[in-house]
Amino acid sequence: MNYCSRCGAPVSLLIPSGDNRERHVCGQCGTIHYQNPKVVVGCIPEWEDRILLCRRAIQPRLGLWTLPAGFMERGETTEDGAARETLEEANARVRVGRLYSLFSLPHLDQVYMLFRARLLDLDFHPGEESLEVRLFTEAEIPWETLAFPTIRETLRLYFRDREGMYSGEIVREWGDAPRVRVIIHEGGRDDEHPL
Ligand SMILES: [Zn+2]
Repeated sequence: MNYCSRCGAPVSLLIPSGDNRERHVCGQCGTIHYQNPKVVVGCIPEWEDRILLCRRAIQPRLGLWTLPAGFMERGETTEDGAARETLEEANARVRVGRLYSLFSLPHLDQVYMLFRARLLDLDFHPGEESLEVRLFTEAEIPWETLAFPTIRETLRLYFRDREGMYSGEIVREWGDAPRVRVIIHEGGRDDEHPL
């Protein structure tokens, strides 16, 4: 951020009094521009023993498979956002169930929330952001061409235990292979492994 979105004057990075970290502060109107992580919401759409994946028509990770998910909009709930993204990316209608996985991605300033969801019918087709939409059994999951670590980790957990609820973090270690740490609340086990 270089300029104040309120008055257009240059901003500087400094620690405001009473705060403990650097913020972009406007030198003219004094506005402190707080920047906080964004929430990504999405679904694991289920139909019998299969789940729906979308092949991305947009960057990043164009051509790779993902669960329908995207940034939460203002004025909606997390469940509404997950259903909306599924409609936009797959033209699929779902009944959103409970939260299945929650990941913090501190290097991207993102939080992922993925919900189990029941497909209401098989009348789906690719939205503008998808090249292809289809159902996969566990054996058919394209593990080598999944778009994001969060998605791969969620699917890995899901096919091991659908009934659990998992939270974890994706920590990028620069200069080395990315590693994922999954903190399993039920059973209290930490599971750390390279991607
Ligand atoms: Zn200003």
